[in-house]
Amino acid sequence: MAFSQFDRVPNHYAGSLIQRIKDFRLEEGKRSLAPTRLPIGGLEILIPRHFGFCFGVERAIHMAFAALDEHPDRHIHLISEIIHNPLVNRDLQERGIRFLFDEHGQRQIGEGQIGEGDVVLIPAFGTTLEIEESLQRSGIDPGDPHFRKYYDTTCPFVSKVWDRGEQLGREGYTIIIHGKFGHEETQATHSHTRQHTRTLVVRDREEAQALAAFILGEVGPEEFAGRFAEKWSPGFDLRRDLKRVAVVNQTTMLAEETQEVASILREAMRRRYGEQRLEHHFADTNDTLCYATNWNQNATKALLAAKPDLAVVVGGYNSSNTSHLVEICSQQMPSFLIENSGELLSPQRLAHFDIHHKERVFSEGWLPAGLPARIAVTSGASCPDVLMNQVVEKLAGFYGYGQAEISAGLERLSLVDQVVSGKVPS
Ligand code: SF4
Repeated sequence: MAFSQFDRVPNHYAGSLIQRIKDFRLEEGKRSLAPTRLPIGGLEILIPRHFGFCFGVERAIHMAFAALDEHPDRHIHLISEIIHNPLVNRDLQERGIRFLFDEHGQRQIGEGQIGEGDVVLIPAFGTTLEIEESLQRSGIDPGDPHFRKYYDTTCPFVSKVWDRGEQLGREGYTIIIHGKFGHEETQATHSHTRQHTRTLVVRDREEAQALAAFILGEVGPEEFAGRFAEKWSPGFDLRRDLKRVAVVNQTTMLAEETQEVASILREAMRRRYGEQRLEHHFADTNDTLCYATNWNQNATKALLAAKPDLAVVVGGYNSSNTSHLVEICSQQMPSFLIENSGELLSPQRLAHFDIHHKERVFSEGWLPAGLPARIAVTSGASCPDVLMNQVVEKLAGFYGYGQAEISAGLERLSLVDQVVSGKVPS
């Protein structure tokens, strides 16, 4: 495993085929972004250099299973899904963990139903200060060092964004959060950052352009407020709070979009206040995307250069980082987001998630009928390897190949040489 210190992550999340590929990449092309080629007869499976569980996800799963092992006699609650993967969440629920909130943010277990001695876990995305206050009313102290160490699974890369927001807020900037407003992480960042300064959430380049138009006086306050009023912090004053801005991100956004959002706002400030005063009005900082988002997105782009016929991306439907991998793949080929191999219904029919319309749909004739065929398979940062493993095996089966051909292919793993490889950050 990449992060062996997290020894409570269950073995059944690993996949032997995927592990062989990871081991191969430790020996060969460790620092290259070139994808790995797995030949199975006339089928080529291409696996990007980076995919699957990230540091923060492994750490959160490890902490949740450690809590279960160590407190078999206590009620254990999670604020909500620990990560965005249904297999992992189901596993935890089957072992007795209960969620305080459902996926729509509706409270399922009241403050008074948390008993003395109960354990509450904060998920990897972190949580809001309002929920932390609610925990305090239930007798749980989220600020206690023991709680932080054993039960707060907030990814350190998420809390780093909060620290960045705090620092910029203290310097007098209003924080523009590039993120999905309803996403748990963005809610948490919005909540923690607004302790220190005014904040506003912007989802994409279109919303960044709407904000820029307001800064430049091209749209009036009423029109702007109609669109953004729910997305800013209490007490936000449009005339006062958009004179000095800084951008931070939800850690899993699309890197190009994040850069574009920042440059749209930078340009608006330059036009409004002039080049000389730009530094005072716009904090030119690096993005706050996490390492896993950058690695997985860069590795997925390298995959495109190998020109696969199609891409299958495995992960939760509500996983932000996974949906961005689908977006990248879709630039070049038919790309399908599936939760598990059960959605590969037949070589003719596939169930998958439409990331634009946010619904599960079916596609016919999705698989190339003949060989040779070249299929990219990857997974999001919250997806256990076993699910990707099963997808590769099922794809091979659709072409009539079984374990013998897969095993032979694993002996012939190679790097896709036509990719101009980049260096992996150390
Ligand atoms: S995707 Fe990044 S921020 Fe999110 S849990 Fe993984 S490492 Fe942490």
